[in-house]
Amino acid sequence: MRHLDSLFPRARYNRGMKKLVLSGYLGSLGLVVAATALGLSLRDEVEPTNLVMVFLAAVVVSAIFLGFGPSIFASVAGMLAFDFFCVEPYLSLAVKDTDYALTFAGLLGVGLVISSLTARLRLQIELSRRRENETSTLYHFSSEMNAAIGSDAIADVLIRSVLETVGCESMVLVPSPEGKPGFDAHPRAASLSGKELSAAQQAFSMNRRTGFGTETLPQSEWRFVPLKAHSGVVGVLAAKVSKPPAPLTQEQERVLEAFASVTALSIERWSLARQAAEVRILKAKEDLQTALLNSVSHELRTPLTTIVGVLSSLAESDESPNLGSIQPASQAELIQAAKEEADRLNVLVSNLLDMSRIESRALKVNRKLEDIEDVIGSAVIQARRKAGNRRIVTGIPRGLPLVDLDYILISQACGNLLDNALKYSPADTNVEVTAWVEVDSLLISIADRGPGIPEEDLGRIFTKFYRVQRPERVPGTGLGLAITKGFVEAHGGKVWAENRQGGGVVFTMSLPLQGSKEGPR
Ligand code: ADP
Repeated sequence: MRHLDSLFPRARYNRGMKKLVLSGYLGSLGLVVAATALGLSLRDEVEPTNLVMVFLAAVVVSAIFLGFGPSIFASVAGMLAFDFFCVEPYLSLAVKDTDYALTFAGLLGVGLVISSLTARLRLQIELSRRRENETSTLYHFSSEMNAAIGSDAIADVLIRSVLETVGCESMVLVPSPEGKPGFDAHPRAASLSGKELSAAQQAFSMNRRTGFGTETLPQSEWRFVPLKAHSGVVGVLAAKVSKPPAPLTQEQERVLEAFASVTALSIERWSLARQAAEVRILKAKEDLQTALLNSVSHELRTPLTTIVGVLSSLAESDESPNLGSIQPASQAELIQAAKEEADRLNVLVSNLLDMSRIESRALKVNRKLEDIEDVIGSAVIQARRKAGNRRIVTGIPRGLPLVDLDYILISQACGNLLDNALKYSPADTNVEVTAWVEVDSLLISIADRGPGIPEEDLGRIFTKFYRVQRPERVPGTGLGLAITKGFVEAHGGKVWAENRQGGGVVFTMSLPLQGSKEGPR
């Protein structure tokens, strides 16, 4: 970014003013001398009325290249030199022929007109150059602001730009969060006196400039500019004027104003984005809590109601045998039902604990080289206990390598997938379990012939508490797949689901084979 001195060269111009003026006048004197020399060499062959063109050329060149003053100087000096050297009597300002008065007036008049026209043109060019520079400065500033994320980054861009462009040290003051009185300053090291802080407060609350050069605290070396956005004033820009304090130029004021309003909009945009993100997080939290409550309360209540019902019936039949005691066979059935419900409760509580271990990254992976057939086998045995007559068909080839894994976690991950396959597929269909090696991973797949999963849900079912809405009511908490994913990822692996041709779904998990060993067979 360019400094205002180069943007608006007034200061530089002032500094080199004398030098420039002097060299301008010397230049135009040189041109007149050159024109005189040429006039002298031509005066015997050329009519004086034509010779005047040589002097006019000197005036035009001065006007174009040396500015207004030097070109006026060239007009007057040229007219005198023309009279003195090229009009008879030579070497005298006296004129024999009064017709030359018109030539002199013409030379002077044309010189003045050309000088003032070129001066005006110069000013126009200078003004549009300044405007262009100002626009490009603001354009760069806005682009940098757009790229800044966070209030500190926004303040950094502003402070750097004010320093580079206006040459002032500055800071950004934003109201303290949570309604605390006062401002948070950026950079934090900058300190303001009590009076300056109250001037800044006025700039903020009354949306007007205060401090140096204004009615409020005019002696301060700080100028406070409110940062006004659409929703109101969002902060204050404090710019420290140079020492000794010099009034800000119009251009400096204008650039500060423009910087302040771009910054205000950036702060507003950033704080709206932050609020929106907070609302989204809050909503997601609320959704999660609601899902947790719905899921857990329902899943807890059902087994508890059964257990309490069974225990009450047994207690009543013991207390009042006359009312007809429960037959031993029925008693055994009731106890079995209560036990199954207690098991369900146990699974639910374990699932919740597993989930919280995964989320708090407290999951411990006790790796050992394991035979994958044993790992899958233990999950299949557990599943067969619940499967009744269902067939679980395994197709695990011989010679698979030993895999470095946590036996309990991977066996539970397989168990969860098997439970789902049994839970969601019809009773007369098989569940197939296979394992194979592909490049540097071991893959395990569990496939069923159930209803499959809608394509749009395939990616989401691994999110905790996410359940696919189906007409039939299959009990569940939406935790099984999230836990499976957590366990597999803790091994550096992946798990995914695909619908099968001909119906049903296949879940595949892949476990990296680094650290594995040739199989036992
Ligand atoms: P839960 O089974 O307790 O609902 P999960 O996390 O195990 O929770 O599964 C999430 C959802 O994925 C289930 O609600 C179900 O809709 C779907 N799903 C999981 N496995 C299968 C499957 N084998 N066939 C069809 N849908 C399944």
